[in-house]
Amino acid sequence: MKISEFQQLIEDVYGEKDLARGTAGTFMWFVEEVGELARALKGTDRRNLEEEFADVLAWLTTLASMHGVDLQAAACAKYQQGCPRCGSNPCSCSDHRPVHSDLTASAVPAPTPAPEGAAPRTAPRTAPGGSAGSGTDAGGQRAT
Ligand SMILES: [Zn+2]
Repeated sequence: MKISEFQQLIEDVYGEKDLARGTAGTFMWFVEEVGELARALKGTDRRNLEEEFADVLAWLTTLASMHGVDLQAAACAKYQQGCPRCGSNPCSCSDHRPVHSDLTASAVPAPTPAPEGAAPRTAPRTAPGGSAGSGTDAGGQRAT
């Protein structure tokens, strides 16, 4: 299946519901799935990992459709000739897409303390009014 065929499939299956939900709510679902992928990447359940990749791709595809973006055309336009920055395949940039070891916790600067009176860093899980992402939106729930 090509990316364009997958995009059409997702439009056929979810397009109406996704349009009714809107960009903000759909993006919340996308981010939630990214979080589930993060957990799956840390785990050992291979089947769950594959499902989470599929979910993230499906929600990404939905967002592209909602905004009239042909995902296959966009991806090919940017990456078909190799790295968009240096034009090489493989990339020969010295500072593009750092290897995983550059992203370990020790390489990440410690967060700076919030100034006094600043809002707490942890937001409530459920937005006021129980909008998208509450996990109870049956219309938006996909297999998890
Ligand atoms: Zn490059």
